[in-house]
Amino acid sequence: MSRLFTKTSVAPAGARLLLRRLLCSASQPDLVVIGSGPGGYVAAIKAAQLGLKTVCIEKDASLGGTCLNVGCIPSKALLHNSHLYHQAVHNDLAARGIEFDNLRLNLDKLMEQKSNAVKGLTGGIATLFKANKVQRVQGFGSISGPNQVTVNKADGGSEVINTKNILIATGSEVTPFPGIDIDEDTVVSSTGALSLKKVPEKMVVIGAGVIGVELGSVWQRLGSQVTCVEFLGHVGGVGIDMEVSKQFQRSLGKQGLKFLLDTKVTAAARETGGKIRVDVESVKGGKKTALECDCLLVCIGRRPFTANLGLDSVGIKLDSRGRVPVNERFQTSVPSIYAIGDVIQGPMLAHKAEDEGIICVEGICGGHPHIDYLNVPSVIYTHPEVAWVGRSEEQCKAEGIPYRIGKFPMSANSRAKTINDAEGFVKVIAHKETDRLLGCHIVSSVAGELINEACLAMEYGASAEDIARVCHAHPTVSESLREAALAAYFGKPINSI
Ligand SMILES: Cc1cc2nc3c(=O)[nH]c(=O)nc-3n(C[C@H](O)[C@H](O)[C@H](O)COP(=O)(O)OP(=O)(O)OC[C@H]3O[C@@H](n4cnc5c(N)ncnc54)[C@H](O)[C@@H]3O)c2cc1C
Repeated sequence: MSRLFTKTSVAPAGARLLLRRLLCSASQPDLVVIGSGPGGYVAAIKAAQLGLKTVCIEKDASLGGTCLNVGCIPSKALLHNSHLYHQAVHNDLAARGIEFDNLRLNLDKLMEQKSNAVKGLTGGIATLFKANKVQRVQGFGSISGPNQVTVNKADGGSEVINTKNILIATGSEVTPFPGIDIDEDTVVSSTGALSLKKVPEKMVVIGAGVIGVELGSVWQRLGSQVTCVEFLGHVGGVGIDMEVSKQFQRSLGKQGLKFLLDTKVTAAARETGGKIRVDVESVKGGKKTALECDCLLVCIGRRPFTANLGLDSVGIKLDSRGRVPVNERFQTSVPSIYAIGDVIQGPMLAHKAEDEGIICVEGICGGHPHIDYLNVPSVIYTHPEVAWVGRSEEQCKAEGIPYRIGKFPMSANSRAKTINDAEGFVKVIAHKETDRLLGCHIVSSVAGELINEACLAMEYGASAEDIARVCHAHPTVSESLREAALAAYFGKPINSI
């Protein structure tokens, strides 16, 4: 493969400059993507498919970013397998006629399956890069001009790449908790919580948002006593429908998870004997107490990662929350530099980063980027799962939108009943006058799959009646969405009273 850049570490300055000019004029890339997370790698592949000469720079040895290495993928492997273990321990399998003796948890094996999944999928990106002729460069990318990126290598060398366009896809990092040092052993971030060496007897999770409840759930199922301390008055994070949040908290509570809501952590300290003391206080004032645990998981969110990216060198200023400001074409204040994913505004989600990557690149090629953030779904992959898209009931009220609700309980869905997995409901919110779908909120073991039908309906401006009139295969859990839609537009479902 031809080199697209010069190596500053090997040639004298004058020769370097000449060589750089010659090489760059001959084979300058159209796009340099910094970061290979779901935003960056997807954008790089799309760009190459659209005919752009594309380079993707990644500082880590493994491609795939947070999502594949320490996010979506490893957490879902642990969630799935810990759920199977939980079913076995709590006699759910026995109730299905599957009996066995000597049940044991092999945590090393569980972690090995997770690591194999990560390895397989990150390796898959390297294969996709090769197949699509995306040039991968390993090193830390810094913007050194509106059309130039300098890559600093692990061996101390550096390379300069001149390019027509730059795409920042550097993602996010764990938000630290002031005063609490993370050692990724007993005081862990989400990253450490994906690789604990043993099941802690007691775990405290700071934050009952999506990642906190997912990882808290994993360790609760594997045998920990987990307490989530949450500043807000509800679980599931920002944007969740309150009726859903209440049902969700009940479901997790039945599994043994404890929640301290409207409560803030004020300090944490390691004590003799390996225990950790966590001081908490009611947000409303007054009540102070201390919790003890063997493992403290800090899950208060993530923040955009732009350290040493060289934004100053081109005059790009961050907003008040550390994000890179962009216009509707994902262009920064420098027209040749774009940004997508966790590093810009909007929900920090892998599929949002992917979609932005694709439409940003299409825009560079002359297309008209458009994304409706209301149609970006959110999923919590616990058991049951929680998923939603569009507006919650609270949002409709706040915006003064007249609405109707259609609800259908999973306990009335034949497939869910058949497989004895009938916790939860589907709630459809439709406009009172036009019947247009405004939102859909699901608690179900397969909510993350069901929500995609609602996303499609939202994207095409469907009404509740449209969904209700679409023939759904029987027996499937998806029929519950149809029934909820029927309840929203007609007032009554068929299979429930
Ligand atoms: C535990 C956990 C679970 C999650 N689960 C889900 C889920 O189920 N579903 C979901 O949608 N989202 C989930 N997320 C969020 C999701 O991982 C992120 O929203 C997503 O990864 C963002 O993609 P991105 O491409 O913007 O950035 P990232 O995935 O963060 O990738 C950025 C990449 O850029 C690289 N990089 C940064 N700076 C430089 C530089 N200067 N030079 C070279 N490389 C650089 C980084 O090394 C990284 O590889 C989860 C996150 C966590 C932590």
